[in-house]
Parts: sequence; C-alpha cells; structure tokens
Amino acid sequence: MTNEPAKELFRRYYVARTLTVPALAQREFGFGFESKIDYRHKAFGSEGEFNDFMRREAPLYASYSTARYSLPAARPMPRKGSLGTDLVFDLDKTYESEHPDSHNAIACERCLSRSRDDALRFLEEFLIADFGFKKSDVAVNFSGNKGFHFHVRTAAVQPLSSLARKQLCDYAGGFEVSGETLLETLGEGKAAVLRSPQPGDGGWRGKFYSSALGIAQNATQESLQENGLTKGKAAKFMEQKAVVVSAIERGKWDYLPWSLDFWRKIADDTVRAHRVELDKPVSFDLARLIRIPGTLHGSSGLVAKPVDDLAKFEPLKDALAFSGRERQAVVCDHDVSFDFGGQTLDVRAGVTVELPLSASLLLYCRGVAKPAG
Ligand SMILES: [Zn+2]
Repeated sequence: MTNEPAKELFRRYYVARTLTVPALAQREFGFGFESKIDYRHKAFGSEGEFNDFMRREAPLYASYSTARYSLPAARPMPRKGSLGTDLVFDLDKTYESEHPDSHNAIACERCLSRSRDDALRFLEEFLIADFGFKKSDVAVNFSGNKGFHFHVRTAAVQPLSSLARKQLCDYAGGFEVSGETLLETLGEGKAAVLRSPQPGDGGWRGKFYSSALGIAQNATQESLQENGLTKGKAAKFMEQKAVVVSAIERGKWDYLPWSLDFWRKIADDTVRAHRVELDKPVSFDLARLIRIPGTLHGSSGLVAKPVDDLAKFEPLKDALAFSGRERQAVVCDHDVSFDFGGQTLDVRAGVTVELPLSASLLLYCRGVAKPAG
C-alpha cells in the first residue's frame, strides 16, 4: 500500500521545483512506490516531460541508470545500446554496531556523521589523491538516507569495464594490502631483500609511510607499548629514535630488523583505519539504477542532495525537503525521540503534536506516524 501522507508531501516538493538530470534523454529510469524499484525501463524525451511525471506521480523512490543508452526504454537490456557508463561509487555502510546503545532508528546523527567522515576520506584520499580525479570531476551526493554517492561523468570513465570498476572498489577496500605486502620480504636467506615504502610513494604505500613516520617521530615509551611493542623493544626504540626516524625517512626499513613485526602491525592498523567499504555492485553492475540527485528518498523524506562542501554537510539540517516554518500535526504509534534540524523532538504515542513539515515527513517515511485527525 502506498504511503499516501508521504506521497502528498513528495508531490508538494516536486511541484515547487524543476529538477535537472545530466544526459536525461539517454538514461533509463526506474520508480518505486512500494519498493525501491517497482518498475524500470522508462525514458523521458525532455526535462519538462520528466518533471511533469514527478509532479503527477510523486514516486517515493526515483532512480536513473548510471549508463547512457541510444534507446534507454528498449528491452531486453542489450537492445538499449550502451553509450558508456558514469563511474559511480556508493558508500552505504551502517555504523549502528559502533554505538548500539545510542543509535537512533528514526534519525541518527552519529551514523550520519561517521558516514560523512568516511565519504570525505574516500573523496580526498582515494578519488582525488590515488585515482587522480579532479575535484571538479566528482559530483558528491547525499543518498537521501544514510550514505553518499559519488558520480564521475567525464568522457574518460565512460568505457571502463565492469572489472576495472570492481578493481577500484577493491583497491579502496584495501583487500590486497597488509603488513606482509607493504613490508614484503622477497627471496630467502642471505639473498632476501625487503621491499618497503619509500619517500614520495603514493597509494597504500604512501599512506603507510606517512603513518609510520608520524608514529616514529612522536613515539614515547607508552605509545610504543600501546601499539604492541614489548617494554624492552620500546626502550631500544626510544634510545635509537633518531636512527629509526632517519631509516624510515630514507626508506631503509631493512636497517630495523628487530622491529619489522611491529611495523607490519602498524601497516595492518593503517589499512584498517584508511580502507573504505563500498557497495561494490553499484559500481561494477553496468545496468545499475541509482537515486536521482535532487529527488526525495522514500525511507526518510530527505533530499538526495548534491553536496558542495562535504566537511560541513549536515543531512538533518541541509537535506530537508521543506525548510519553512510550516508545521503538520501527527500522531505516532509509539514514543519516539530524535534530533532533527538542530532540535530534539519528543513525541509520545497517541498524542497529537505539531512538527516541522520535514520531521512529519520523516516519521511518515519511517512508518511510525500518521497525520493527526
Ligand atoms: Zn547510529
């Protein structure tokens, strides 16, 4: 059954604006009222046609193809004639397990801020630093619920294979790097040589190099023991601190055989701290549909908002569908309490309460409230 109170507010949202979609006439569209995609293989000839559809139907979920096609509505898929596919990444991880006692199922600022931090890291450390995209090539989009999408729409990425896209996700996931590969012993016995990160290295080797150098430069007896070095080896490290720092600065890790296991552990820690878990099929499935930027998300009523300054983005303030002072009276079927738009909202079961429009919409979308009366 369609969520009518939510749909009514979605319609108001779409009536009040005109959405633009890059390469609209070459995209396949999919829409959902009951589920995220009830039907797909739809196409529009113009922005006017698309916006008329959104205002008339007010779908709870609206997605478009990351691929561009010569015949986007054709079926089956091969008849569409692919013209290339945007490179898209989806960061959709849940962080609930990190704070089970304080997680809020209605709207969780802690989850959203963890997600934003990971998104910022993925943008800066991977998309820009390691993959070499220009900041202006990457469109960052709040997903509308709990994560972030990254769209690269340049000509150069359009022909990338499914495998290449998967490899980029695996790289960011750090699946193939560890202490053993970042400080790798090649050969055996006297012929053994250590392949180790060098100054100026990029990628995972560079991330490890920077974190190792920082640990060495700032080392104290306590910090080293906290990182797993024995008391005796930590004391030796402190005695030879200048030598250790200098060896790392010159990439001469084989000067430090007594601490190689320690550095391998630091490398493992670095990988864990920097890896980014992406929803891989969104990237490598070339027939994938993804939330249309600027549309509302049917599970939250929040806007899948394009984000200019990720570091400052706060979804529960910046991605609201309605920002005016209008309120709507709702009744909840159980007690809820959540932070929203900079205030804490408490709603008791069965008690009519007037909430800001976007907060009422959130509760309709979460399925816990109805309009009062
Ligand atoms: Zn949470």
